[in-house]
Amino acid sequence: MTFQELGLNKPILRALADQGYERPSPIQEKAIPPALSGRDVLGCAQTGTGKTCAFAAPILQRLAAGKASGRPIRALILTPTRELALQIQESFEAYGKNLPLRCAVIFGGVGQAPQVERLKKGVDILVATPGRLGDLYGQKLIDLSRLEIFVLDEADRMLDMGFIHDVRRILSWLPARKQTLFFSATMPAEVQGLVDSLLKDPVKVAVDPISSPVEVIDQKLYYVDRGNKTKLLSALVREDGVKNALVFTRTKHGANKVAGDLVKAGISAAAIHGNKSQTARQQALADFKSGAVQVLVATDIAARGLDIEELSHVFNYNLPDVPETYVHRIGRTGRAGHGGTAVSFCDSNEQEERKAIEKLIARKIPVVEGHPWPMEILEPLPRDKKGRVVNPEDAEARAAAKARRQERDAANRAAAADRKANAAPARPADAAQPSRAKAARPAKAAGPLEQTPSAQRTPGEKKRARGYRASATLEEALTATAPSRPAAAEEYSDFYKPDPLASDVILDATARLLAPKSSPAQPPRAKQDKQRTGAASGGPKRRGGKTKSGGTQQAQPARPAAEPLAVPKAKKKRSGARGRGGRPPEVTLRTGSQKDSTEQPSLMKPYYLSRDD
Ligand code: AMP
Repeated sequence: MTFQELGLNKPILRALADQGYERPSPIQEKAIPPALSGRDVLGCAQTGTGKTCAFAAPILQRLAAGKASGRPIRALILTPTRELALQIQESFEAYGKNLPLRCAVIFGGVGQAPQVERLKKGVDILVATPGRLGDLYGQKLIDLSRLEIFVLDEADRMLDMGFIHDVRRILSWLPARKQTLFFSATMPAEVQGLVDSLLKDPVKVAVDPISSPVEVIDQKLYYVDRGNKTKLLSALVREDGVKNALVFTRTKHGANKVAGDLVKAGISAAAIHGNKSQTARQQALADFKSGAVQVLVATDIAARGLDIEELSHVFNYNLPDVPETYVHRIGRTGRAGHGGTAVSFCDSNEQEERKAIEKLIARKIPVVEGHPWPMEILEPLPRDKKGRVVNPEDAEARAAAKARRQERDAANRAAAADRKANAAPARPADAAQPSRAKAARPAKAAGPLEQTPSAQRTPGEKKRARGYRASATLEEALTATAPSRPAAAEEYSDFYKPDPLASDVILDATARLLAPKSSPAQPPRAKQDKQRTGAASGGPKRRGGKTKSGGTQQAQPARPAAEPLAVPKAKKKRSGARGRGGRPPEVTLRTGSQKDSTEQPSLMKPYYLSRDD
């Protein structure tokens, strides 16, 4: 059977061919013809069977054939999770790329404004999760009165996730006359109730739980502690047979870190994720496809839409939260009938995810025993408020770093106050100027702040604790924020030698600063002052506040700020939007040749200035 024989039109056939689909999967064979003829369909099929194409292709064809004045929403696909919603929307975009139809996706957990903006421009096909659809409908931002086709995807999961009431409410908003395509892997009584009330004389199609794309993949599971995953990954990538590998991490930061560690281990690797520019991503992909890069490390979102054929290995560095994502990930290595290997790492905190995956695919993933880094931490590690795993060692290091920071801040305050007191002996007038007198009494100011638990501090106190303070003069600002020598002397002995060039270790940034420079036109004095002051207060925050490794971070001043990853030819692009405000306006001082933050005079100059006095 071919797609052509199912009655699909040329634009869709071309798009499916571009996807590398050679022949329809069983669910597509069974569901596409009745769906094309306008019949209701009840499909018993799971993710991984090709069910998205089974409903998307006929919807696209029917909408393209009909006409509607204006651009009302003519097809609605309701699906339980954001991940599924995004995947479905991508499938519509891919299969409908040769058709003049517009598709949009809405889901919760993100701001609604861009989604509303998109809806206002008019969409033919809307993919939605129940919560956000309900919100926007309630705000009268969505009109479903001219709906022609409705898809209820993964109805049994809607039930599991407690969305069944939302679904019933949404059904009441839809026109009575419409085509309904209904998919559910299982048929619990409540789902059967929905089927009976919703579908009219449906064609029933059922396929085995997971079809060929996953069958041909050799799946393996390694139990390994999270701290040993990269070592295991490097060892496995070096093994024969890994021609090219796509490694999935949970976060963008994780993708960068893993790629960097692989590069350090001598493996050509690149990270690809949403923070990289489009050009950098395309370049990394091109290098991966050409074989110049052996390993591409990606987040799920970045990996979507990556068109990679003949992928020999997929590694799940982190198991996905949503079990269907596992099927999608590993499906990348089994494309177009090619076999492949999917290797998953599971640490003590990922047991729930593993169980959910094995439940979905209705089998156990074969476990590889006897590898060099067997799992030793058997109990799950605690998680923080944001659900992130807290490694006790990291937590200790962070606490130690915090204590050091507080000690240093207190010493800074005391030193600044001493300097001030020495420079300006108390005048009688000070008594009449409460604000100045207050500034000259550091012990009193520092005391309560140190004793106040951070949660109870006012924003101003928190800022001061991080090293911010109002300075009367530029010089004071520069000296006050530089770490005091006595407090940091041991740790930074090289760094604080009177002459930076006398040190055994000369920082790159130091060398660059001291090197003669053909500087661009100097900014006016006031601007310079502002920039220096801004850098002085911004420095400690960046250095101490955002780093996970805590204690170790301060001991690495000689390391470049940005680790280069193996992204050959890809230019590093600095984004203007750096997130979390508070950065000083350094950009104005950068020249075209400056490439990383260590080269910015505004970061380093204050420390040298402070030594001169
Ligand atoms: P789905 O069940 O719709 O989530 O699809 C699972 C995976 O199979 C996706 O990665 C699809 O791109 C892929 N797929 C769907 N239909 C076909 C087909 N006819 N031939 C090859 N791959 C397919």
